[in-house]
Amino acid sequence: MSNKKRKDVDGLRPIATTKEWKMLYFQHGRPGLEESSPYKGLCRHCEIRDICSIVKPVTGIWRCEYYQAKSIKKTNLYENVIKQLKKAEDVIHCDKDICEILAGTMNELVVHFPVKMNDGRIKMLTGYRVQHNNALGPYKGGLRFHPMVDIDEVRALATLMTWKTALVNIPFGGAKGGIQFDPGDFSSEEIERITRRFTYALGNNIGPEYDIPAPDVNTNPQIMAWILDTYMSTMTPTERNRCLHVVTGKPLELGGSQGRNKATGQGIVYLIEKWAQDHGFNLKGAIYIVQGFGNVGSWAARLMKEHGSKLVAVEDVTGAIRKKEGIDPDDLADYVKKHGGVCGYPKTDPINHEKFFQTKADIFIPAALENQITGETAEILNVKLVAEGANGPTEPEGDKVLHKRNIDVIPDILCNTGGVIVSYFEWLQNKRSEFWEIEEIDNKLKKIIIGAYERVREAAERYNVDMRTAAQIVAISRLEMVYKERGIFP
Ligand code: NAD
Repeated sequence: MSNKKRKDVDGLRPIATTKEWKMLYFQHGRPGLEESSPYKGLCRHCEIRDICSIVKPVTGIWRCEYYQAKSIKKTNLYENVIKQLKKAEDVIHCDKDICEILAGTMNELVVHFPVKMNDGRIKMLTGYRVQHNNALGPYKGGLRFHPMVDIDEVRALATLMTWKTALVNIPFGGAKGGIQFDPGDFSSEEIERITRRFTYALGNNIGPEYDIPAPDVNTNPQIMAWILDTYMSTMTPTERNRCLHVVTGKPLELGGSQGRNKATGQGIVYLIEKWAQDHGFNLKGAIYIVQGFGNVGSWAARLMKEHGSKLVAVEDVTGAIRKKEGIDPDDLADYVKKHGGVCGYPKTDPINHEKFFQTKADIFIPAALENQITGETAEILNVKLVAEGANGPTEPEGDKVLHKRNIDVIPDILCNTGGVIVSYFEWLQNKRSEFWEIEEIDNKLKKIIIGAYERVREAAERYNVDMRTAAQIVAISRLEMVYKERGIFP
């Protein structure tokens, strides 16, 4: 790599320690590697035509260091979350003592635990659970398995959970957790042992009336089932059946709820419908692009199809694809299940990160990781609306640019609340031994999420602020009121 290209990645935080990076150098298009080399492959993502370094990246897919560092540049999400909080507090002149409470977390747990690997070796792993606030009810929030998980990220995501539950008015607080590892590097049996051992290490720091985990990046109903089973095994026989609601997002057979899988995507689409209605915009024939095609992105994409909208570009960790005639999201979801990512999906053109962001469309749904819409990428986005499925996908600099360019935003703490709302329904059903039909779930979800949208829009008008600040104002106003009414013990 030339010095100039090296310089471009300087100052960006690597996604793994240098020790873990397995790098090889070779000519693009002429990989001078042995047939048998485990490192053989081409970086499909960057356009550097000369020497390029190849790394083993975050989810087992080969990418070059240059691309990786550019696309997964890590800024401090927690700092951004606190900046956003201060901005809203200043607008409403929030009580200074309450501001101090909201700016900090209640409890932070870091656990280091050993797990036996398939080859008999022991690996030490680090897991986190941060409980930000429980003024409105039990702590609630997802669990993420990812090598970039660290205490600051989990703090930030836990804080965002408090805003979300307050904003949509459900009786939960905010928490988040995660384990710092790349599940792509481990077998299913090893992931099960990691999950169970982490659950055991958390012990009574989670509980059905205290702190309730759910799925997030790289976790799913199967992981929730293992957590439930492990948690139950530590209870006395008489307690066991009262613990079903220790996690949400469970498989249906284990007490999961209808509609939980699609819930976050469904919530996003209800809000896009509402935005379209408010702006006299017809979703039939509208063009959209999606970043991240996991739970949130794929469901949002599939539900947009029902409106006759057209998906033209998708990016995930394996790369980006584009087809101006439209991509069938159901068929793509089947492909991703079989192949692990969108890369190589037939009859589409592979494109790089920049080209993905430049794709002309009406709606962009970021549904991958945080900090994707930067000052740079916001300048090249060519859309009317950003509906934030992911948590923290927009950096403050990116936000300013979106505002300047009159691109509407449905902010994350409103846009992706479908998941926690239906998690609340699952929790209620478990407590009452009930099973609700999907129609009931969808109707209730729509009512709650659209009600929150209206409160945010009213706050935006009343305080003359953008939707993100307005959403934050609605959330903290509720918390401020509760603290004032309850007072602080003793
Ligand atoms: P997931 O693990 O199911 O999917 C993540 C997707 O992001 C995958 O398609 C992956 O390939 C892609 N991705 C990862 N790194 C990427 C990168 N550098 N560039 C492009 N794509 C990349 O996770 P999910 O549950 O769909 O969560 C996605 C986002 O939505 C996260 O920010 C999560 O916190 C948020 N969220 C999830 C839920 C939920 O119910 N699952 C609820 C609210 C918010």
